[in-house]
Amino acid sequence: MTVPQTLVRKAHIHLPQAGAFVDWLLQHWRDEGIDVSQPQAGTLLLALADVGTARLQQTSASGIDCLLQPVAPRMGELMQLSLAEHLAEFADQMAWVEGSWELVWEGDAPPATSRLQVMRVLSNQALSPRMRRIRLAAGDISAFAPGGLHVRMLLPEPGQAPAWPTLADGNRLHWPAGKAALARRTYTISAMDPEEGWLDVDALLHHGAGHSDPHMAGPGAVWAASAEPGSEVGVLSPAGGMVPQAPHCVLVADACALPAAARIAQARLACQSTTLLLWVSDAQEQAALAPAFAGMQVTWLRGGVPGASQLEIAQVLQWLAQQDWHPHDTVLWVAGGLPLTQAVRRSVARLPPLVQIKSLVHTYWR
Ligand SMILES: Cc1cc2nc3c(=O)[nH]c(=O)nc-3n(C[C@H](O)[C@H](O)[C@H](O)COP(=O)(O)OP(=O)(O)OC[C@H]3O[C@@H](n4cnc5c(N)ncnc54)[C@H](O)[C@@H]3O)c2cc1C
Repeated sequence: MTVPQTLVRKAHIHLPQAGAFVDWLLQHWRDEGIDVSQPQAGTLLLALADVGTARLQQTSASGIDCLLQPVAPRMGELMQLSLAEHLAEFADQMAWVEGSWELVWEGDAPPATSRLQVMRVLSNQALSPRMRRIRLAAGDISAFAPGGLHVRMLLPEPGQAPAWPTLADGNRLHWPAGKAALARRTYTISAMDPEEGWLDVDALLHHGAGHSDPHMAGPGAVWAASAEPGSEVGVLSPAGGMVPQAPHCVLVADACALPAAARIAQARLACQSTTLLLWVSDAQEQAALAPAFAGMQVTWLRGGVPGASQLEIAQVLQWLAQQDWHPHDTVLWVAGGLPLTQAVRRSVARLPPLVQIKSLVHTYWR
């Protein structure tokens, strides 16, 4: 991969435990299905097709040097944002206080163009018992228009008056003093109308949502179940993710990855062929969500906890083994729960026709 020197970005991270962050990042990226290697202790090399490469090198107990080589300016912004987000997530987990860690971009790194937009909920519609379509509006949504699939969202709790952060230091979220950080979750833009200034996300109410004990559900499901018209939510741009390009694509998605599978399949409809395996909990979910896949070559799998139940995972693997694979023109794209993605990765590494297939396996939840 040849990268123009003008796109190269360098940063230095100061933090209390450099080794712990490197170990966490290695595991996190491996779980995401990202091609990451560790040529020596303390060094991570990451390569993402169509995005670029990153090298992180631990220089001391409290220092890491970062070198990003994106293939295009927009990819550079996404890599910067992603690095800042991962570091902030780890700092949250470790309960490091503000100021004890920082990410400093070197010299003439191009200014990041990421934006945080506070959007308003226009409507919250039940597509099925488990899926909500939430329409969000902000006068100008052009920042999301260039075609990315997914956005990071900052989700207030029901009834909470949120204190919004600013984007500082090369895309790092900077929270107002004394205010707790809002939960961040990723959702797919299922539809948008830049002229009217709205976009839709379809959010799964997974296990625990609607439970009498709200702690049983994660903040994403709680937000989706209760987001009221007029309430605010934060959305980070630009959107990430891309439509896989190959003459033929095999898509496998659990319930929360259906919006992404639908976006990808629709984008490919005009000129490329796509085969889908979609896993939902029951016939009611299938009936409600099927219109998004009308006219496509779809196999539905029903039952268990989509993305997690072993019985259905075995059926997914069996289905994959039965496909007619053409190594030179096919991409396999899989997204869903960690148990599913781990099983698919193991299977891909073992099954002879699949070993040669380009596979993009993304963990959407764990
Ligand atoms: C690129 C990308 C795109 C995504 N697009 C969408 C989308 O369009 N719509 C959508 O609904 N989700 C989408 N997701 C998945 C979503 O971000 C996760 O499901 C997220 O964990 C939900 O947050 P939460 O706060 O509800 O649960 P969390 O607090 O993250 O998790 C709490 C517990 O809930 C359970 N859980 C979490 N997610 C799921 C799930 N999906 N199914 C079953 N159990 C679960 C697990 O037991 C977990 O331990 C996407 C994820 C990625 C990475």
